[in-house]
Amino acid sequence: MLTVNILSSLLLLGSVSGFAPLPSQRLISQRPTVSALHVKTPTKPEQPEQVAPARPPLPGPGNDDKDSDKDKDLFFKLQLDAADFLAFSGRALDTVEDVLLHLRRAYEPKALGALNLQSLSTRQGAKPRLVVLGTGWGGHALVKVIDHEKYDVVVVSPRNCFVFTPMLAASAVGTVETSSITESIKAANPQVTYVQGSVRSIDAEAHRITVDTFSSLNVGSSSAAVEKFELDYSKLVYAVGSKTGTFGIPGVMEHSYVLKEVSDARRLRRALLRKFDEASFPGVDDERRRQLLSFLVIGSGPTGVEFTGELSDLLKTDVPRLFPDLVPFISLKIISAGKTILPMFDKVLQEKGLKTLAAGGANVMLNARVKEITRSAAILQDGSEVPFGLCFWAGGTEARKLTRDTIAKIPGQTEMVGAAREQLTVDGYMRVKGVKDGSILGIGDAVRVEGQQFPTTGQVAAQEGAYVARLLNRGYVLDTDGPPLAPNAAAAPGDKNILSAAGDWLRLRGDIAARPFHFLNLGVLAYLGSGAGVAELRGGDNTRLLDASGKVGSFLWRSTYVVKQVSMRNRVCVLIDWAKAKTFGRDFTSPSDYYSPEE
Ligand SMILES: Cc1cc2nc3c(=O)[nH]c(=O)nc-3n(C[C@H](O)[C@H](O)[C@H](O)COP(=O)(O)OP(=O)(O)OC[C@H]3O[C@@H](n4cnc5c(N)ncnc54)[C@H](O)[C@@H]3O)c2cc1C
Repeated sequence: MLTVNILSSLLLLGSVSGFAPLPSQRLISQRPTVSALHVKTPTKPEQPEQVAPARPPLPGPGNDDKDSDKDKDLFFKLQLDAADFLAFSGRALDTVEDVLLHLRRAYEPKALGALNLQSLSTRQGAKPRLVVLGTGWGGHALVKVIDHEKYDVVVVSPRNCFVFTPMLAASAVGTVETSSITESIKAANPQVTYVQGSVRSIDAEAHRITVDTFSSLNVGSSSAAVEKFELDYSKLVYAVGSKTGTFGIPGVMEHSYVLKEVSDARRLRRALLRKFDEASFPGVDDERRRQLLSFLVIGSGPTGVEFTGELSDLLKTDVPRLFPDLVPFISLKIISAGKTILPMFDKVLQEKGLKTLAAGGANVMLNARVKEITRSAAILQDGSEVPFGLCFWAGGTEARKLTRDTIAKIPGQTEMVGAAREQLTVDGYMRVKGVKDGSILGIGDAVRVEGQQFPTTGQVAAQEGAYVARLLNRGYVLDTDGPPLAPNAAAAPGDKNILSAAGDWLRLRGDIAARPFHFLNLGVLAYLGSGAGVAELRGGDNTRLLDASGKVGSFLWRSTYVVKQVSMRNRVCVLIDWAKAKTFGRDFTSPSDYYSPEE
């Protein structure tokens, strides 16, 4: 995938100039801008450090680079590592194996059909039942790679689609539509049985889950009735992800907006647009206007930074067009608890990120810890207040209730939970520790691999999902240590042809016992606004290919995320959305969001 990304990036490099502002936007930029306002904003002495464009470089090992590097947008690193190369080659063979599986699916259509929903409560049929909890990065990747000839696959999740989370920030400001970054789980995987529901509990002994389902009561009513049913499994894959973390800080959920699901993006977008209408009401004084249009982002990881970048684009391009009189009242701040932003990036890129955000009009506050959020201000540890009209919280994630309950129920899990996060502990083969028969596997944000420290990202979750699918496809005996191949672990019975034979050869390419999961770190990317981004492309932990910032970074971000979309429909829709936003501006309408007292 990385190779595809890089190739597509190089092919499209010529279009980088496409990020230059349109003529109409050049005219607009002669009006007062957010950036100009930022320069004039008086800074209170008690506020944490503010980032100015001419800020001295941060101390740190990454800053050993020559001074000239600071002005470059593209650094070829070409630091290679033999172990990474072997892992990369192994992954390439895995991909060939997946392609063969897809070809077999395409050329040998079988009447897979859906399971009989009436019989879901018991395990029936010739094939073992694989139940997958979740339609996120982990669950979706697994379902794509699993061999449906060998398993009846049932996916249970309250959400009936995959969401491309890296672009939720873009959808929250209207750069792309939410429908462009979601993919129906049924449309993408017709072979699976999908049940909309939320798992309430897991009985690991009985191999049974209890699921809450929802059904609408009346037309126009959003309330739902809860019904309960039970579902047996042969193997269970736990991929329920995490939820927005508040870390006990009062007021987070009550007074700030979060971004985890499509519904969050829609809510945030509505609230954002409403601020401009509210600030335009007759009789609103300047002070109130300034307060309404103070946008505060808390958290400086990729989610907080990308939202800040997307929002600064909206404030610089669309707001001056539609609400020119409001421009002088706008401010945008981002709070970081650390001494910099984007902690997972190289120091040089962090520095560039800081400068880009500042140049885009954002006031970056470093070393600032929020201890409470009230209706109109974030209160910092030092007692100072940062007022806002709209607050966006991107402080991190924490365990879902189901994960906490499951940790408490499975023997030994509670003792294994790390101090920092509550996650189910899995071994190197993604088997949940404490489940003796290896029937529950865990992937993604909800789990931590014993002895490893993987980031909680879609990249890790997707690789884990594909790994578990291959583990199951190849027929490793999961209740045995160092899982060996089952004697009959070739293709499905009666399924011998050239494609499956080639697949067998790859499957059995020396992997007589399963290899533990290996995360192949392909790098990190973030969009910063103003047509700039940062990108660190890797071929493993110790293999660095290139670092990029500015327009090159943005170009790599865009091309990677177009390629990474899970369907051709989504790729086309995202490209069209970008073109629409660039040509006509972002959509500021919210037709379903009006107040009509007489009705
Ligand atoms: C705004 C944002 C931007 C991000 N950007 C990036 C990025 O650029 N790169 C990157 O690698 N990562 C990014 N991430 C992180 C990435 O989205 C997560 O790490 C990833 O989603 C984890 O995958 P998962 O499969 O574990 O969980 P999720 O993708 O969260 O999926 C969990 C699934 O479980 C379902 N579920 C929840 N509860 C239950 C239940 N009780 N029963 C059954 N199903 C349940 C959910 O509905 C969902 O379908 C971003 C995240 C966010 C929120």
